[in-house]
Amino acid sequence: MDVLKSWRDPSSYITTLHVDEDCKNNEYTKEIIERFSGDVVIVPVGQSPVVSERDFPANLSDGKRHLYLTRNKGHFLKPCPATREYRCCDYHVLNTGMNCPIDCVYCILQAYLNNPWISFYVNYEGMLDEIETELSAHPEELYRIGTGEFTDSLAIDSITRLSEKLVPFMAAKKNGMLELKTKSGVVDYLQDLEHNSNTIVSWSLNSTRILQKEEMRAASLAERVEAAKKCISWGYRVGFHFDPIVDHENWEKEYFETIDYLYRELPAESIVWISLGALRYLPHLKDIGVRRFPGSTIYFQEFIEGLDGKSRYFRDNRTQLYLSIYNRLKKYADEKTAIYFCMESDEVWRDVMGFVPEEKGGIHTMLEKAFWGYSVGG
Ligand code: SF4
Repeated sequence: MDVLKSWRDPSSYITTLHVDEDCKNNEYTKEIIERFSGDVVIVPVGQSPVVSERDFPANLSDGKRHLYLTRNKGHFLKPCPATREYRCCDYHVLNTGMNCPIDCVYCILQAYLNNPWISFYVNYEGMLDEIETELSAHPEELYRIGTGEFTDSLAIDSITRLSEKLVPFMAAKKNGMLELKTKSGVVDYLQDLEHNSNTIVSWSLNSTRILQKEEMRAASLAERVEAAKKCISWGYRVGFHFDPIVDHENWEKEYFETIDYLYRELPAESIVWISLGALRYLPHLKDIGVRRFPGSTIYFQEFIEGLDGKSRYFRDNRTQLYLSIYNRLKKYADEKTAIYFCMESDEVWRDVMGFVPEEKGGIHTMLEKAFWGYSVGG
């Protein structure tokens, strides 16, 4: 049963590799097929993988067992799809694929995906070219590039080994850094890579209750922290994202337990940044989430529609959650660690942290300073 099994490596849930006929002779595709131990199905040109006979949204659960190797015909690198109404951090999203074998009750992709399967793009040379072109065109900017917006790249890394291509490539960049965001414990392939401190490995963290009940097939808290410890021993710096913070019974005690554990296990100076973001979702995600996960209660609370059209907790509620968690983090955090909000208003910044990002040059500057190792204060 899922609950009892350790899901340090959630890619073991994938049973079938579907290969776009167009890509089957690609060297990287061949390398992945060679490594994969499950079924391999070639998908004829113009057709799509067949992964489920069930209708949406039930087919989303079936799709988690199917990985589709195809080509990205659009752009790989895009500014984070943030909304103007809340402070965002000027992140660049690297689109290496879509969806992942983990299944989070709150995953926004459930509302966006047209297809139930997991996609992975094998034309990685195009991706590296695109990064090269963008970074060379703006040498004065530091690009923070992350893979965690549409997928969890490390969750399928034991099949794809994309990190072996990306990390050394980014190591040579003077104005770019890579963030590999994950909920898995799959880090062993990072051990011998040339990274030049340009890759930060980061984990999403939560109270144990949310980790266990709302993030199916994700690594446990101990597995995530253990993986971070390994990365630190290999010279990587790490980050953490308390996102989404969920209001639940005993939330304060349980978030404190996670924070206390984190700082008991890891050296504070290895943590470059920590973000905080309370649960927010597109209204129609609730219908999908409730149908797919009838035992979950996270959508049954008081929410208000934010300026970006997403449902959020009321401001007082968010501030209360953030204040407790922020103060607990500050008790242990190194002065160089940047603690920041993902998509929050200036009012909340001021109420919780006592300043607005502009006073520190903006969130991007705060994170840039943390990356280069300067104190951002606050
Ligand atoms: S790990 Fe990320 S991409 Fe995967 S299901 Fe959870 S929220 Fe979605």
